[in-house]
Amino acid sequence: MVMKFGGTSVSDAERIKRAARRIVAKREAGHGVVAVLSARGKTTDELIAMAEEVSATPDPREMDMLLSTGERISCALCAMAINDLGHRAISLTGSQAGIVTDESHTKARIIDVRAERIEAALQEDHIVLVAGFQGMSEARDVTTLGRGGSDTTAVAVAAALKARECEIYTDVDGVFSADPRLVADARLLPQVSFEEMLEMAASGAGVLQLRSVEYARNHGVRIHCRSSFTDKPGTVVVGEADTMEQPLITAVTHSTSEARLTLAGVPDEPGAAARIFAALAEANVNVDMIVQNEPTSAGGLAEISFTVPREDFSVASKALEGLRGEAYTELVAHAEMGKVSIVGAGMRSHPGVAAKVFATLAAEEINIDMISTSPIKISCVIPREGVERAVSALHAAFELSGPGTVGVEQPFSPRGAA
Ligand code: ASP
Ligand code: MG
Repeated sequence: MVMKFGGTSVSDAERIKRAARRIVAKREAGHGVVAVLSARGKTTDELIAMAEEVSATPDPREMDMLLSTGERISCALCAMAINDLGHRAISLTGSQAGIVTDESHTKARIIDVRAERIEAALQEDHIVLVAGFQGMSEARDVTTLGRGGSDTTAVAVAAALKARECEIYTDVDGVFSADPRLVADARLLPQVSFEEMLEMAASGAGVLQLRSVEYARNHGVRIHCRSSFTDKPGTVVVGEADTMEQPLITAVTHSTSEARLTLAGVPDEPGAAARIFAALAEANVNVDMIVQNEPTSAGGLAEISFTVPREDFSVASKALEGLRGEAYTELVAHAEMGKVSIVGAGMRSHPGVAAKVFATLAAEEINIDMISTSPIKISCVIPREGVERAVSALHAAFELSGPGTVGVEQPFSPRGAA
């Protein structure tokens, strides 16, 4: 079994001991156990702040050296607590655990898990603690996997060990039909398909890192998201064929950390968009929604708008600076945008869902800036201050409420938070 504990689940000594007891209980039930831990509480944020105190643009390689320490602290402490419970535990850094990544510091991707050392420790009847969120490049540099990356470590380790399940222990009871902090009667979802979970993670549900869901889908890992404070059953993420019901809409997700950039005066010729997005890709900026308007008259100029996570906003603007005059004439920025999305496998075969979304937002007098769809998702970029109202209104309009338990503390973290 692979068990992953998030930052709030190991935030103080008491909670580390509680996680240790849960890990030991699993071992005593007869499972070999690998536990992947996140950094304690706000440790990662504090480490980032520390870096920013000494440098305005911290070197990414050194940033990874710094950030990887948070998870190591959690693992060493938890190993001590487990040893005191009469079991043998060993903590491993990401590199010791064989997590091999590419070289893109602070956003690295796992390319291989060489799990021999974990397997050997399990053979010796150890409980193995693996520091989440980190790995090592082929050049032996320490890397980190992006915010929330411990989820991906856990899934990757589970895949490599062919674990029965990857349990994600968190500070909420599971995955909800909306952020319970915004919607009091949000429903706990007993099951979600990979496809829905991918769309939800991509559109702001902070409960699982997007990449972890991708990895789980690609490797067939069963994810079980549950509370570290209770024994409630939680949410299982499974293949679509295994889901029991296909409701029209499963969840409303949101993000309040979008920024929109609009480029005016884009030449209407082949290669114009390619130039712009190549520059953004080069700067490692994650572009989300893109809208291009063709000029209304021949020989006119086009306009391209796109959104990026607000944290990538200044890097994106800087990356485009050099193209001004050549690829576009003017850049207009809106840093305070949000996004609301509805996700549901059932909408694939059901007309009228988009119309209902737009009518619901209209009734709230919320102006829609950009729209994008996938077969199972509709997203609207809206002003940040309208997000909370939009989420409640859509949740009510699609009748998503139901019995369910509301978690304690930060139920869904905004994108970027642990
Ligand atoms: N500690 C890292 C973060 O805050 C990774 C994680 O918690 O998953 O993003
Ligand atoms: Mg997390």
